[in-house]
Amino acid sequence: MQQDQSDITLITATAPVATTTHGGRAKCLQRLVRLEMPVPKTVALSFDAVHRIAQGDMPDMAELLAPFGPAPLVCVRPSSEDPDWGGPGAVLNIGMNDAQYVEMSDRIGQDAAAAIYKRFVQSYAIHVARLDPDEFEHVVEDGAEGLSQVLSAYEDETEEEFPQDPAVQLAEVLRSMARAWEGTTARLLRQAKGAPAEAGLGLVVQEMALGLGRGECGSGVIQLVDSTTGAPRIIGRYLRQSQGRDALERREEALFLERDDRGPSLEDLAPDAFAALKRMTALMRERLREEMQAEFTIENGVVHILDGVRVTRNARAGVRIAVQLAEDGIITREEALLRVEPRALNELLHRQVDPTAERDVLASGIAASPGAASGRIMFSAAEAQASAARGEPCVLVRRETSPEDIRGMHAAVAVLTERGGMTSHAAVIGRGMGLPCVVGVSDFKFQLRGKTLVAPDGRELRQGDIVTVDGTNGQVLAGEPAMIEAAEDDALLTLMTWADDVRDIGVRANADTPADAQTARNFKAQGIGLCRTEHMFFEADRLTVMREMIFADTSPDRAAALERLLPMQRADFIELFRIMQGQPVCIRLFDPPLHEFLPSDRAGHRELAEALDLPLSDVTRRVEALGEYNPMLGMRGVRLGITVPEIYDMQARAIFEATIAASREGAPVVPEIMIPLVSAKREVEIVKTRVDAVAAAVRNETGQDFTYRLGVMVETPRAALRAAEIAPHTAFLSFGTNDLTQMTYGLSRDDAGRFMSTYVQQGVFAEDPFHTLDQDGVGELLQIAAERGRAARSDVVLSICGEHGGNPESIAFCRAAGFDYVSCSPFRVPVARLAAAQLAV
Ligand code: PEP
Ligand code: MG
Repeated sequence: MQQDQSDITLITATAPVATTTHGGRAKCLQRLVRLEMPVPKTVALSFDAVHRIAQGDMPDMAELLAPFGPAPLVCVRPSSEDPDWGGPGAVLNIGMNDAQYVEMSDRIGQDAAAAIYKRFVQSYAIHVARLDPDEFEHVVEDGAEGLSQVLSAYEDETEEEFPQDPAVQLAEVLRSMARAWEGTTARLLRQAKGAPAEAGLGLVVQEMALGLGRGECGSGVIQLVDSTTGAPRIIGRYLRQSQGRDALERREEALFLERDDRGPSLEDLAPDAFAALKRMTALMRERLREEMQAEFTIENGVVHILDGVRVTRNARAGVRIAVQLAEDGIITREEALLRVEPRALNELLHRQVDPTAERDVLASGIAASPGAASGRIMFSAAEAQASAARGEPCVLVRRETSPEDIRGMHAAVAVLTERGGMTSHAAVIGRGMGLPCVVGVSDFKFQLRGKTLVAPDGRELRQGDIVTVDGTNGQVLAGEPAMIEAAEDDALLTLMTWADDVRDIGVRANADTPADAQTARNFKAQGIGLCRTEHMFFEADRLTVMREMIFADTSPDRAAALERLLPMQRADFIELFRIMQGQPVCIRLFDPPLHEFLPSDRAGHRELAEALDLPLSDVTRRVEALGEYNPMLGMRGVRLGITVPEIYDMQARAIFEATIAASREGAPVVPEIMIPLVSAKREVEIVKTRVDAVAAAVRNETGQDFTYRLGVMVETPRAALRAAEIAPHTAFLSFGTNDLTQMTYGLSRDDAGRFMSTYVQQGVFAEDPFHTLDQDGVGELLQIAAERGRAARSDVVLSICGEHGGNPESIAFCRAAGFDYVSCSPFRVPVARLAAAQLAV
């Protein structure tokens, strides 16, 4: 079958060439042609054409070569739709043969001609004839001698003469590149980079601009920004008498571009060519609306632009480049917002392992909290604290963490647990604190008694050994690889301001402590969407009082303990209100089962017996009595609030007293009080009646007035389904998607890590639903609740405060469902702000 006309196109300003049919390189070359850049003549082959070549259907080679004259000399380069998907390496100097060699020797000198011919024979031998590259290693000579050795090596190995016909050479090169793309390995590699299975490859055939010969000849690359910082700087190299990407491969021999004190430069050598290159790259930036790297050749002093590619960049540079392009009026602010991948901001907000550093991976788990840190492994919270006190950074290693480990987590630089998933204790607390955390590392053998960890490859780690926890990709590395520091620079702040100007869904933070609240403010959260009050009780002095409260046998004893907790809570809330300066603060009443506050081992029981002056047997008995088979589904949340109402009474009082105190100092505070784990309307009525009564009492006692808003956390499927009867009693509904996911799937959030990777690998779940909101199932419940809630009470405020609140996909879902705001851990606030802005652009 004859190839279609538009399948093989000479690139001109008006030729029908598109990224989706001919690939990004072909399209970019056309743009350069339109800018009247000195681009050598180029023919583009479409995806279809290349696919047919792979199947053996060759185009008419004479026609293909016609634009290049009677003695063509060309190169072929890949042109996939997205340059990140890769492609076969370029082949240069196609068309070199004995006749060209003779002619060229006259024109540019024999050595240059021999180097060009030799390079082609070698790459043809390796890429087309598939000879072993080692066969050519012994050829070290340059000039005619080296060339004849390479030719004989080719002929020895293939038992054929080196093909002389440019049409044959080109056909073979095209066929081998087309087939390489369709091979299984190449396909899997690009699919891993996000390419669709059927992604096509285009090829461009371009006239060679020789970088070897008489006069100033050479090749190089130039870009106008630094790829790691995004700062304006002329970056690149130029290598005299070279071709292709030699200047990058032989960096030590290459020259810098701009004149400075590092050594000779292209600017010294060929000032006009340098000035032209600078001008052309700047024009590319302006007209292609992107920072570009130009590949160029200088042939006898004349500049040729062979190619332009988007400058590679890390996240930090990406932000700065986008902002700078917008500030220069080249792109709009909206476009700048769209050019930064929200998740990439994590790289700026947390320390990361240097991507160029060697990674010695010991084990992998769930990437629960981004950032990386190195430290000595410590197997208990107490040892972590001791290590921190000695000034030695440490990594806390636990089977799973519990509230008792909070102080150890504060002392550690990172956390590593055997069990758990995205919403387990370590993960939630780690994210809140900005502490790198990997959970569910079940391929380590945790020998906690012997204080060792055994890696899958048998390596044994003991207490005190140094590891690095990379919470960004879920790996545990041996030793201390180089790190890149977090860098919240001006460009990011600017981009964030633009984001806030356009987004139409609010972003709050989950913050439990004054430190979290401060981080939330720094990241410009619009208030606190979830303050988990139980986290306020883990300081040593409070824990003892809390335990006294739990152990109280009589109502007066309990009242006495609560009386002592009240001023502590009040002080907490005053501090939160003060930091948030009038922004909304949503306080969730006590949620976890009480036994989480009690020690779990015998030594702990003994200590507690001493502290409370009780017989050990009493303590053990009470701890056992409080134990539950399924604590996550047991006496927690509002169930505890109804069974032991004095706790919520105390919290309500602390909130109201703090409201009065904080309003006296600054902006009036309207606290939001949230009831966790509701499943029935009656629960809300009962709690509301009591909270109203406390409010009335505080108003009476103080003579001060205040308002507050009471809301419900939708965390059980029943609460979602019954939203119509719950909404009339509540000012807001906040979806706790951690528990809601757990209960919708019937899947323990603390144990899911054990099999989640198997489930995801086998495609049972597309993704970990604790990480990415399950829009089909949990999402349907969210939608039902939102609709029923709104129908019953049109001004009910809707939000999400589970860990999904910071994920771009969940934010899109919540926005589409008409939610008012999302709330996520403070360090994810910038990611959420940007993701929200992208939805509104
Ligand atoms: C939730 O369940 O989604 C939630 C925010 O509460 P917690 O994670 O504290 O249970
Ligand atoms: Mg919950």
